[in-house]
Amino acid sequence: MLVVQKYGGSSVATLERIHNCAARCLATAREGHRLLVVVSAMSGETNRLIALANSLSRPAGTPESAGPYVAPSIRTPEHERELDQLVATGEVVSASLLAMAIQQAGGTAVSLVGRQLGMQTDRSFGRAKILGVDRARIDAELDAGAIVVCAGFQGTDAKGDTTTLGRGGSDTSAVALAAALNADVCEILTDVDGVYTTDPRIVPTARKLERLSYEEMLELAGQGAKVLQIRSVELAMRYGVHVHVRTSFDDRPGTMIVPEEPAMESILVSGVALERNEAKVTLVGVPDVPGVVAKIFAAMAALDIVVDMIIQNAGADGRADVTFTVPEAELDRATAALGTVQFGESAPTITSDRAICKISIVGLGMRTHAGVAAKAFGLLAGEGINVQMVSTSEIKISVVVHERYGELALRVLHDGFGLGSGGPAAV
Ligand code: ADP
Ligand code: ASP
Ligand code: MG
Repeated sequence: MLVVQKYGGSSVATLERIHNCAARCLATAREGHRLLVVVSAMSGETNRLIALANSLSRPAGTPESAGPYVAPSIRTPEHERELDQLVATGEVVSASLLAMAIQQAGGTAVSLVGRQLGMQTDRSFGRAKILGVDRARIDAELDAGAIVVCAGFQGTDAKGDTTTLGRGGSDTSAVALAAALNADVCEILTDVDGVYTTDPRIVPTARKLERLSYEEMLELAGQGAKVLQIRSVELAMRYGVHVHVRTSFDDRPGTMIVPEEPAMESILVSGVALERNEAKVTLVGVPDVPGVVAKIFAAMAALDIVVDMIIQNAGADGRADVTFTVPEAELDRATAALGTVQFGESAPTITSDRAICKISIVGLGMRTHAGVAAKAFGLLAGEGINVQMVSTSEIKISVVVHERYGELALRVLHDGFGLGSGGPAAV
């Protein structure tokens, strides 16, 4: 078999853990499998590197406690190139250390970084798209009997510059390599023993799922369940990669991400996710005529800002209110850009709110069952939680609430839909 194993940041957080990973790699190789390993940076390292770069642009006298500061003027393509070059070093370090640890334990291993491992991407620094994998070097190393340890999260563009795939991108590296190599399985080894009905760190009653469909995992990952980067799930679904999410700390089996099975549709809600990093923008008094909303979102698209939920209310006197959410990190750029949009004789009032979060419930059974939304709103109302925005898709309902209520809402929906107690509840 050809096995791909990805070790996340917490699994390589210390030298002791790196030795454990090395032992696990050797055990897999000794079972007779060809093994390609993908590693993340040691836990906390990517944040440290980003903070270091951001500190460079902190105005004199601004206290560190004010958090990372990136002056808009330095967010240039040149800066982003350097930032990728910088943050990619985190994975270079852990890949080299793991290869050395395997060698010291008696194995044969070689580490490869972006350029060497043939991960070809476009030039969108910080969110590069994978264009292809040139597997020649990897094949040669595997044929020579080595465990190939790849630095995750990174690739290289046509010029040979280092790019990164976005936060959590080592998952995507692993799945892309598994697809390119036709691997039999892609194991995502992390600090939880599988995918749970919700984040087990927040909701203690969360339950581990044995199997979950690609579609549901895609929705959960897209709505804040950071156990897998959303792009890794998209790739896995497209190329039929068998993904097994499990812990690196012991041998227990975890969660298999699989194509949809008929019985799955009878499960109303499979999981609940919390997304804290969104912010809300409201424009009050937008002229209610064709083309105006297009202008607003064209301004966001021009800055490559991803807009999530959108609500428009028809107001009075030919004016409307438009509310939408953007990633919190993009809020300042979004409001600055809206300030420059030409709305005609009277400009709308623009306000924003960072104190929000989004909770999403996901399940294939929603396709065929009515009443899920009603039940969700009832559960939230029972706790006095006000719903500010709502959006739905075929297998998902998302609500925006005040951030103060995020964890409570997550628990209430999770337990209210019977996820914690061993089975789905009827509507
Ligand atoms: P790694 O460093 O291995 O990539 P991450 O921190 O990116 O690990 O992802 C694992 C974390 O994801 C867990 O520690 C857990 O807190 C969080 N998480 C969020 N939602 C879920 C979920 N539904 N199931 C399991 N873990 C989840
Ligand atoms: N080290 C990167 C991050 O922290 C990539 C990853 O861990 O998957 O986002
Ligand atoms: Mg991760």
